[in-house]
Amino acid sequence: MDVKVLGAANEVGRSGFLVNCEGTNLLLDYGVMFGKRGTPPDYPLHVKPKDVDGIVITHAHLDHSGNVPSLFVSGNTDVYATPPTFDLSKLLIEDMLKIEKNSHPFDLPELNNMMRNAKPVEYKQKVTKGNATFELRESGHVVGGSTVLLESENKRLFYTGDIKTNGSRMLREMDLDFDEIDLLITESTYSQTEQKPRKESERELVEFANEVMDRKGTLFIPSFSVERSQEMACILKNANFKHRIIMDGMALKVNEIMFKHPSYLRDSKIFADAINSSLSIREHSERKRAMEEPCVVISPAGMLVGGNAVYYLQQLAFDDRNGIALVSYQGEGTPGRKLLETGKVSTRGRDLSVTAEVKQFEFSGHADRNELFDMISKIKGNPKVMTVHGDTDSCTNFAQEIHEKFGFEAYAPNVNDTITI
Ligand SMILES: [Zn+2]
Repeated sequence: MDVKVLGAANEVGRSGFLVNCEGTNLLLDYGVMFGKRGTPPDYPLHVKPKDVDGIVITHAHLDHSGNVPSLFVSGNTDVYATPPTFDLSKLLIEDMLKIEKNSHPFDLPELNNMMRNAKPVEYKQKVTKGNATFELRESGHVVGGSTVLLESENKRLFYTGDIKTNGSRMLREMDLDFDEIDLLITESTYSQTEQKPRKESERELVEFANEVMDRKGTLFIPSFSVERSQEMACILKNANFKHRIIMDGMALKVNEIMFKHPSYLRDSKIFADAINSSLSIREHSERKRAMEEPCVVISPAGMLVGGNAVYYLQQLAFDDRNGIALVSYQGEGTPGRKLLETGKVSTRGRDLSVTAEVKQFEFSGHADRNELFDMISKIKGNPKVMTVHGDTDSCTNFAQEIHEKFGFEAYAPNVNDTITI
């Protein structure tokens, strides 16, 4: 078995690994990497569609799924993922094409062609393709998200995609119940970072929400539409939060997808309770009216780039009774990062100081350092290890530490490297 690294080497984004299983070529993920504002996106190394026998998408995030339609310009290949991953990928790729018109080498017809070739797979369902057999396992990272366990000629590869080993209020923990493996490809995003326990972040957020309500303000939670928005609603519901919760934007479409796939949630009842008791905004005219009394507004975009977040920010940022809770990583150059660092937002070309109280909370969807090492300690066998999907320090230090702690042969590959097992 050969694995060629097409992307996600010492970087977060454009994941792609081409696995040659004695002549059967499987592509694991094929994502995009978004450039800084104004610069074009990056892609994994090019592969010819005719050289790919099947594609496996671990989860819907665009850095894992976003470039798959490029393989459907002229050809047809089987593409495998869980049912929620297909639904969410379609939604996110459509949205990407709408926002970044003409900047990708494909458009809606190719996405539709990809969906026509979709082969939905449930967790632990064994799939045989040529000389390869694989199955998807729960990753705890995002709804429908999976890891890949792939076997060929008695060699076994485990690819983590993105993982949150402990799961979350929305998702069950990662599934590590399998036998010895020969190669581990692991994400490294937060290998050098320790995160606050999730319960503590939840407590802090609920406290902040109640403080803002007590002073008759509105709390704005700009949030990723996939899962983080729903998780915020569930956290507040679980804490018996008494005030109105408003949900807006693409998060509503994601709600519908999650309702369609309840078995992929840790507790579909809490999810249904949280969403059914919140107010969904469908029309612009409803927005202002909905905020007439103290409430929480959950709306994308998580980094305040576009979406209805811009409207809410302008309505809510300049009143000191209000609060803004940033619950996602704020990328460099985004309005969210600027707000955190300078306390200012740009409105109509001018930088204005925000008077609402701004706080950041840790709700990462990725395993932190402790969770990653805990995951490695549960891996059976004496695998070679490739550390990917992290910045250079996160990948190289992680590889070195894995070697020191567990004795495994570990390294941070470069793009175009091939490893044979
Ligand atoms: Zn992800």
